[in-house]
Amino acid sequence: MKPPAIVILGESSIPVARQIQVALPEAVVYGLADRSQSATVTYDNFGETVRELFQAGTPIIGICAAGILIRTIAPLLTNKWQEPPVLAIAEDGSAVVPLLGGLQGVNDLARQIAAGLQVAPAITTTGEIRFRTPLLSPPFGYRLINPDDAKTFIADLLAGATVKLIGEAPWLENSQLPITEAGKLTIQIVPKSQSERTSTSGKECLVYEVDIDWIEPTQGKLAIVGTGPGSAVWMSPEVKEILESATDWVGYKTYLDLAEPLRKPHTTRHESDNRVELDRARFALDLAAKNRTVAIVSSGDPGIYAMAAAVFEVLEREAKPEWQKIEIQVCPGISAMQAAAAQVGAPLGHDFCAISLSDILKPWDVIAQRITAAAQADFAIAFYNPVSKQRTWQLEKAKAILLEWRSPETPIVLACNIGRPGQTVTVKPLEQLAIEDADMRTVILIGSSKTRMIQQRQGKQWVYTPRHY
Ligand code: SAH
Repeated sequence: MKPPAIVILGESSIPVARQIQVALPEAVVYGLADRSQSATVTYDNFGETVRELFQAGTPIIGICAAGILIRTIAPLLTNKWQEPPVLAIAEDGSAVVPLLGGLQGVNDLARQIAAGLQVAPAITTTGEIRFRTPLLSPPFGYRLINPDDAKTFIADLLAGATVKLIGEAPWLENSQLPITEAGKLTIQIVPKSQSERTSTSGKECLVYEVDIDWIEPTQGKLAIVGTGPGSAVWMSPEVKEILESATDWVGYKTYLDLAEPLRKPHTTRHESDNRVELDRARFALDLAAKNRTVAIVSSGDPGIYAMAAAVFEVLEREAKPEWQKIEIQVCPGISAMQAAAAQVGAPLGHDFCAISLSDILKPWDVIAQRITAAAQADFAIAFYNPVSKQRTWQLEKAKAILLEWRSPETPIVLACNIGRPGQTVTVKPLEQLAIEDADMRTVILIGSSKTRMIQQRQGKQWVYTPRHY
């Protein structure tokens, strides 16, 4: 499919256009000249531009009233088999309305956009809603060879007829079609090479040809990798190999930049904001479902406050049928707390725990209660996400809770930008912990009551937590 055109009438639609681009990174924004400075392509005449795009088969996402699009395109509506997808999106992103292009996957596009905008798409195609499967626009690799018979076939299905499936098609098996051995209607899947010789197609039999080369050998893959804290020497050989062979990288810009020296010319980067983890996970799964080999990149370890959990959360919650076959792999990395600990010795040498001080995903009460419990149980603690531009008071509160249970002399380690340019590591007593000591690239290690500081005869000072009591 051609890259979609997001057509806007004014600058006020830019925020919604950008949200759509997160879900569809290849989409291009078309804006009315003089009224939309940030658009990639500008135009002077709305009607002419939309009609040209339509005739060229470009999917059109209009951030405007549905009526404007309908009136503009109406004179061209002659052949529904050739219509590209056309959707109208409300200017505030509150509605996603697929209008045309049912045979070219407009409903899939509507679902993708709506998921990005966190609204429900206004799907109106009865057959698709009832049977949870797009008979008229099958997934990649499949083609309906007798589309003219589909209208009667679907009407019969809606009237209660059952269907027999000959051949294999997971997207049909996982749907809610009334499939039985004794079905009145038939759906037949035939390899592309044999579709010429198939004469069974008719009003009671839909035939899909399947491009086996496309479906079978190239299985979509999603590797969720951790690149370690920063330096290439702390990245595992497995992760390096995966990054070098992936067709696509998905991740927060800063993390992709850290891995950039490993990127091969065949690899496409898909950058995103750091705060939209679930959107990023969904996007990566969708790419992998198109048989791409995708690496989703986290810093440190991908299972520690990072993308692995986000991927499984979306996989469980949204459970798209096309995601079920993706080969998923999680590749560990050295987490910030391990790299930081290694800089000063072994402060996490005995029982320890990690706590994120970010109250964006969980309430502060839970965090405060966890700090209390960890302090009381005498765990050494690693604080992730201690401070950010928006979250400035949490660290002080955490310190106050710790001091209720732990001595003011407890050694703490402030480790910033570990493995990256500008690395700093400071050891000091807990009572001297100040908010200025930390930012969003700092991990803080808090010693237990047993943690000790020692000095080598003429050299370095070390911090460790003994394993013997
Ligand atoms: N998956 C990552 C953690 C991501 S959460 C890991 O396993 O390390 C982001 C937090 O991790 C930051 O706020 C900071 O507390 C810590 N962090 C990540 N990289 C760091 C680094 N290079 N140096 C110090 N702290 C880091």
